[in-house]
Amino acid sequence: MLGLTFLFIVIISFGGLGIYFVNRLSNDTGKILKDNQISVEYCGQMLKALDQIQQDPDQIAVFEKNLRLEENNITEPGEFQATAQVRALFELLKRDPAAFTQFGGMHKAIFKIDDVNEIAIIHKNAKAVATARQATAWLTIIFTVLSLAAFSFVINFPGIISRPVKELNAGILEIANKNYSARVHLKQQDEFGRLADTFNTMAGKLDEYEHSNLAEIKAEKGRIEAIINKMNDGIIGFNNRNEILFLNSAAEGLFGLKEKDITGKYAADIAIQNDLLRTVLQNESSKQLKIYLDNKESFFVQESISIQTDGITWGRVVILRNITPYKELDAAKTNFIATISHELKIPLFAITMSTQLLEDKRVGELNKDQAEILGTITKNTERLLKITGELLNLSQIETGQIQLKKEPVLPEILVIKAVQAVKQQAAQKNIVIQEAVAKNLPPVNLDDEKTVWVLINFLNNAIKFSSEGSTIIIKAVKEKDIVQFSVIDQGRGIEEQYVSRVFDKYFQVPGSNEKSGTGLGLSISKEFIEAQGGKIWVNSNFGEGSAFGFNILINT
Ligand code: ADP
Repeated sequence: MLGLTFLFIVIISFGGLGIYFVNRLSNDTGKILKDNQISVEYCGQMLKALDQIQQDPDQIAVFEKNLRLEENNITEPGEFQATAQVRALFELLKRDPAAFTQFGGMHKAIFKIDDVNEIAIIHKNAKAVATARQATAWLTIIFTVLSLAAFSFVINFPGIISRPVKELNAGILEIANKNYSARVHLKQQDEFGRLADTFNTMAGKLDEYEHSNLAEIKAEKGRIEAIINKMNDGIIGFNNRNEILFLNSAAEGLFGLKEKDITGKYAADIAIQNDLLRTVLQNESSKQLKIYLDNKESFFVQESISIQTDGITWGRVVILRNITPYKELDAAKTNFIATISHELKIPLFAITMSTQLLEDKRVGELNKDQAEILGTITKNTERLLKITGELLNLSQIETGQIQLKKEPVLPEILVIKAVQAVKQQAAQKNIVIQEAVAKNLPPVNLDDEKTVWVLINFLNNAIKFSSEGSTIIIKAVKEKDIVQFSVIDQGRGIEEQYVSRVFDKYFQVPGSNEKSGTGLGLSISKEFIEAQGGKIWVNSNFGEGSAFGFNILINT
């Protein structure tokens, strides 16, 4: 607006002044022509007519015409009197042309008119020249003033526009760099001023938003930190460069480290001085750790969780889960089971002895019904003995008290003993047990009682899960430096998804319709075999049968 107004003023001033002075000049020169030059012309015509008037009487009319015209163009002082004198003389001349010579003053009067007009021309010309000078002076002044104004405009105008644009640009850059407290200070009331106000409002809103968000995030972070810190499990976080990110209070206690001393440091550097951290870094997940804490043994399970967001791994968190309370409860349970099964064994033996006495005819004959009842008592007592035996074995395993009595035994002997123990049971189901022991097997160094126990367990299961009249094979073969024992049946087999779980404690294949067992036999067998350095295994096809076995090194 300012620039355009200025241009407008320049045009108006120059145009106005130009028109004004041109008008004045044209007036002045017009006046010279109209007022004086014509009069000079008339005078010339009159003088010419006057000179010829003697010879040519027509010249009187010419004189008359020019005099009238002159009379109508009296503009200068003294011109009127001179003209009036010419008129008076001319009237005389008209009446008596012969007395022409008497009118010598006529020339003088005409010259007077001519002089007056010529002087006026000189004056008016001088005035026109003065006007032209004035015009030049004024136009020069105006030109100078406006040129100066235009010059300062040229110098300042870009700044007037670019300064606020620069300030706004700087403000926008600050906002882009997340400095939401940046403001643009423009004191002007124009469009730039309003733009700056709008910008400041926007920056204010962003600032407010940022602060409210930040406060929320901080509160959320504080809450999460409080939860992590209050947890009983030790938690330690690493980024993907293996630098320590955080450590909760429980972990501080476990590692004997302070979070503020180690955050941001390389875990490997800290591990040089810290045994537990070294173990944790080397361990894979799900490892159990025994740590002395508060002067007592504590147990932890290590879990490592890789932290990913949008497919990018930014680090991992290691959790040391305190399982000491469960361990203590488990130990109490094992103790309880051990005590109970031990306590039950004595009365159960007493019952077995008594039933055997009753079966002995020397104490007295039993009738058929009594014999049947006694049979049931005997069967259930055997079951109870088996269960208490398994529980006792389990408690021994759990307390780490498996005592092995190793001695060299011939595999054949073990097979015979096992088959002997289940013979009666197999006969009840018309099941044939085939012994397939390779010839000349070397003696193996193992715990006779526990290994036979495992074989009996395999055979018992094979009988349980086979249909009447089927065949069970018990095998012992030598392969390189091991002897492999196996019990193969043609029973129901095990579904593929359960095969790997049969050695788990208390596991029974769902739907196997076998409620009499405890689900402990195979897990105890596994422990017994592994305690002797052997390896237990199973192959099973559902509907076709199973093969359970173990391999034992000959020279153990
Ligand atoms: P229990 O026989 O006392 O239930 P075990 O640990 O000896 O416990 O066996 C676990 C489970 O494995 C059994 O309940 C049964 O479901 C399955 N199993 C074991 N042996 C066989 C076998 N020979 N054929 C089919 N299933 C078997």
